[in-house]
Amino acid sequence: MKAIEMDQNLAINGGTKTVTKAFPWPIYDEQEVDAVAEIVRSGKWGNPDCGDQVAKFENEFAAYCGSKYAITCVNGSVSLRLALIACGVKPGDEIIVPPYTFITTASSVIECNCVPVFVDIDPDTYNISPAAIEAAITPRTKAIIPVHFGGLACDMGAIMDIANRYGLKVIEDAAHAHGAEYKGKKLGSIGHVGSFSFQSSKNLTSGEGGIVITDDDELYAMMHSLRNVGRIEGGQWYDHYNPGCNYRITQMQAVLLSNQLKRLEGQTRRRNENGLYLNQLLETVDGITPLQRDESITMHCYHIYIFKYDSAKFGGLPKDTFAEMLAAEGVPSFKGYPHPLYRQPLFQNKNFMCYAIPETADYSEVNCPVAEQACNTDAVWILQHAMLGEKEDMELFVKAILKIQAREKD
Ligand SMILES: *Cc1c(COP(=O)(O)O)cnc(C)c1O
Repeated sequence: MKAIEMDQNLAINGGTKTVTKAFPWPIYDEQEVDAVAEIVRSGKWGNPDCGDQVAKFENEFAAYCGSKYAITCVNGSVSLRLALIACGVKPGDEIIVPPYTFITTASSVIECNCVPVFVDIDPDTYNISPAAIEAAITPRTKAIIPVHFGGLACDMGAIMDIANRYGLKVIEDAAHAHGAEYKGKKLGSIGHVGSFSFQSSKNLTSGEGGIVITDDDELYAMMHSLRNVGRIEGGQWYDHYNPGCNYRITQMQAVLLSNQLKRLEGQTRRRNENGLYLNQLLETVDGITPLQRDESITMHCYHIYIFKYDSAKFGGLPKDTFAEMLAAEGVPSFKGYPHPLYRQPLFQNKNFMCYAIPETADYSEVNCPVAEQACNTDAVWILQHAMLGEKEDMELFVKAILKIQAREKD
């Protein structure tokens, strides 16, 4: 281990960085500054009692996604909870989720007193495997939460087919997938509900925030009510019909989002083109295999550009060290999740604080080999803001990888 880190040319050892450019995020100008300032000066900061910027953005986002309704909320975790509760889940119901995702895809299920059932991902796409979903269905299964990981669409044809055959709800976790498409349809608009995050790192952001989209009148009415302390549209201010909470966003967030949305399509196209170019460049690099995309992927938004790393082709250099070296070379990159979600203490220790989750729920023996391998040895991430660079930047990313591969080993 000591020996392979000796190469003084590597940036990690004080050598010259391959990539010196900064990749800023978020991207904004005076348009955003003026829009927020105008709201501040108006004194109409809140929602829904004053001002209409929140409803305006919801209409814009619904139209952008080709959905009938959109409902904003405080983040992309609460949005999953709104969707689950509106879908009618009951304590003890099983919800099928992937293990290679952010924690709240599964912890939102716990918060609804339901049982997350982890099924493995596909080795070529790192998205939930439809065959594994079908194998995990029991009479208690109520819903599936496919995550369009990194902005790459799940196999929605197969997933919707399974859902229809078993009478299950599909909640798309599209937190990585603003503007991405499956067969020409915007992600989030295919299942019963689509859920998005506007947290700082996401491809559309207002610092914090979230949204759900749906075509279903009843799901809309329930999510709208849950978001607004159980009030119903047309009801009295102090009449509360459903549980819910105050999950509303502010007018400042809404105007930021309206302005950021204008930039989204161009940014998504740029990332998609850079991703295709990087795929092409990496074809010639031994030991690096980008995830696959087929013709169903009409638009990939590369919230994360993921490739599989083969340490054998890098002189046995462990993935974590490779990722550190790559980041030191100036490529905004990361080793990704350290372990699949079921290995988190939350699940291993069953710190659920929900008495309704059955004792039989047990994660000590869960093992999804593809997700394990992705975490332990294979997956390396390049982050979305880097994918907004120029073609030359993609070439430099490859140059940095080759520099590490060619390093002096002793
Ligand atoms: C970011 C993220 C969320 C949660 O969004 P927040 O707005 O941070 O609560 C949910 N699912 C996935 C896959 C995410 O990456």
